[in-house]
Amino acid sequence: MNRIPLCAALAAMLLTGAAGLADEAAPASPYAGTGDLAIDKPEDKVDVPPVPAPAGAIVIFNGKDVSDWTSKDGGECKWNVVDGVLQGKPGAGDILTKHQFEGGYKLHVEFRVPYEPNNHSQGRGNSGVYLNSHWEVQVLDSYHNETYADGACGAIYSIEPPMVNAAKAPTVWQAYDIEFHPAKCESGKVVERPTVTVIWNGVKVHDHTKLTKDSTPAGNGGDICQPGPLKLQDHGHPVQFRNIWTVPLKD
Ligand code: MG
Repeated sequence: MNRIPLCAALAAMLLTGAAGLADEAAPASPYAGTGDLAIDKPEDKVDVPPVPAPAGAIVIFNGKDVSDWTSKDGGECKWNVVDGVLQGKPGAGDILTKHQFEGGYKLHVEFRVPYEPNNHSQGRGNSGVYLNSHWEVQVLDSYHNETYADGACGAIYSIEPPMVNAAKAPTVWQAYDIEFHPAKCESGKVVERPTVTVIWNGVKVHDHTKLTKDSTPAGNGGDICQPGPLKLQDHGHPVQFRNIWTVPLKD
């Protein structure tokens, strides 16, 4: 027998075996792809362009570390920064900005949800952006994933569904551009309810939606006449965030 082909065959077997072991050791990233998931439109697989903070903005996530954040109990933020992206850490709890927001603001936040085909409804890519820690703009995988209307991605959770489902596919970067008008208060009493407008991937899904409750579920509670932090929800999924910044509104 010719020794060269035998050696080549052995080497190929060893390499194949090594690759197999490596695959077993390292579980596939939930951002590696979407398998045979049906895609409705080509743009559903296209990331939104990253929009860094403009001059004068308050940078909420600096792309390097979590030094601008705390855990819900005021301790150290335990979420991870992975390749310049803030990633939810299941079990680490919600996180709050150290910055307290007073007055209205525009908020830009980019996010993407993992591909979790074995989960469904509220169990897919769940997180949330809580305005002043009270009201959740839902983050969820809403691409071919049915759930109740006011719990879908883009919903003001438990208050109002989005007007349109503007979801991109999981693993694809999406964006919220939010305009938040806080409650108007006199002598500590609310005289005008807060409102929120949400643009999701360039589509208006809320237009001055009135925030009829003082808190949505898992909100921090407290006096809505007072300043509050921004909160990101840990709902047990490694949802990712980048380019989070705000610009104060001029009243
Ligand atoms: Mg949520």
